[in-house]
Amino acid sequence: NTLTVGELAEKLGKDASEIIKKLMALGVMATKNQDLDDDTIELICSDFGIEVEKEEEVDETDLNHYIEADLEEQLIERPPVVTIMGHVDHGKTTLLDSIRHTKVTAGEAGGITQHIGAYQIKSNGKPITFLDTPGHAAFTSMRSRGAQVTDIAILVVAADDGVMPQTVEAINHAKAADVPIIIAVNKMDKEGANPDRVMQELTEYELIPEDWGGNTIFVQLSALQGEGIDDLLEMILLVAEVEELKANPEGRAVGTVIEAELDKGRGSVASLLVQNGTLRVGDPIVVGNTFGRVRAMVNDLGRRVKKVGPSTPVEITGLNEVPQAGDRFVVFEDEKKARQIGEARQQKQIEVRRGDQSKVSLEDLFEQIKQGEIKDINIILKADVQGSAEALAASLKKIDVEGVKVNIIHTGVGAIKESDIILASASNAIVIGFNVRPDNNAKKAAESEKVDVRLHRIIYKAIEEIEAAMKGMLDPEF
Ligand code: GDP
Repeated sequence: NTLTVGELAEKLGKDASEIIKKLMALGVMATKNQDLDDDTIELICSDFGIEVEKEEEVDETDLNHYIEADLEEQLIERPPVVTIMGHVDHGKTTLLDSIRHTKVTAGEAGGITQHIGAYQIKSNGKPITFLDTPGHAAFTSMRSRGAQVTDIAILVVAADDGVMPQTVEAINHAKAADVPIIIAVNKMDKEGANPDRVMQELTEYELIPEDWGGNTIFVQLSALQGEGIDDLLEMILLVAEVEELKANPEGRAVGTVIEAELDKGRGSVASLLVQNGTLRVGDPIVVGNTFGRVRAMVNDLGRRVKKVGPSTPVEITGLNEVPQAGDRFVVFEDEKKARQIGEARQQKQIEVRRGDQSKVSLEDLFEQIKQGEIKDINIILKADVQGSAEALAASLKKIDVEGVKVNIIHTGVGAIKESDIILASASNAIVIGFNVRPDNNAKKAAESEKVDVRLHRIIYKAIEEIEAAMKGMLDPEF
């Protein structure tokens, strides 16, 4: 929206010659019919002591812009979406299989279970949706793309093994996402199963059973023998009720891509989790930077469906390209609009590569603090031994800079791993390595996710660096 000198003069109630004079003072030779850009217009206005009211710029490519707020009375209860996490071999996959198999009811028999990234079962007539990829890596990589799909995390801990490093990671990932945790103490059938030890160990992470005065739900089970599964499902529904999970089935369909791939016969195939509204065959849709019209939908039992409501996973075809897990989708009224937005998003993606989103780094920390953009400094700390991790964490937390808090969201022993970087990216955190280095995958991830990784060998130097960054006194790096 440019104006000519003449038009601007008219708007301001001035003579064009006055404007031309001001322009000359700015070193711009202009005629009455010359177009002026926004910046110049603003300069001239401010010279006249006039404040320019800029029109709120609408970002056409921002999908959030198309999502209307729901009215309270439109909202109804929706099923919880659950992710299973825990240490390797503690029984996540077994539990997912066991839940699915025991709960495919007679009425649904005949359907062949399909892997579409998530499935839904019913417990006492109430649906629950499970994401099919166990583990916190998938969970957090979705979150790093801005997708929050999990309502409840199940933390599986083997009763014969207790709390292990990935158990702790999973706890921290779930906590960083502010998702309630239910503990599934698994392998209760095994000799040497010691649920008390698991409970004891978890108290260290503020996961305290109700019997001991806490408010964390523990369920003892055997995924292998299918024991205790019903108790677990009951607890999930209980937590879901407390969380008051709601959605508006009448709203515009929006949700998240759980997984996507190119199928030889069917083209782009995407598993979507509908989070609000109802998705229908034929809907024009934008999915991440792809678009199309929903050609066909298949549910987790391999059946074709015509429409699906909130918290339901479904596999769709009809997109022009393959979207990415964690991408948002939004349905549009007409195909032309969907195409236009989709194409604009594709274009924008080419211009702004994903990694260019600004992440915190120590260099611009002070600037961001000053601008009020951040109040917490999230830090992930990896060290060679537990003792130094704890010592460093304690000292970092003591750094006292007005209005800013240091938040240690995860500490661990060993090399910096890809999952640390992804957690940092999702939580806008800085990674500190004390006497440890990132492995190759972590290095690559840090580069592409633009995560700031700082390596130190001396505790006070690490503390000094963070403190200096918070105060804006960091020495420039050479
Ligand atoms: P994941 O790595 O966490 O997904 O673990 P899996 O589900 O692959 O389980 C690892 C191993 O533990 C497998 O050999 C399972 O059969 C076994 N397992 C899982 N749950 C149980 C259980 O409740 N009892 C016993 N005895 N073994 C189990």
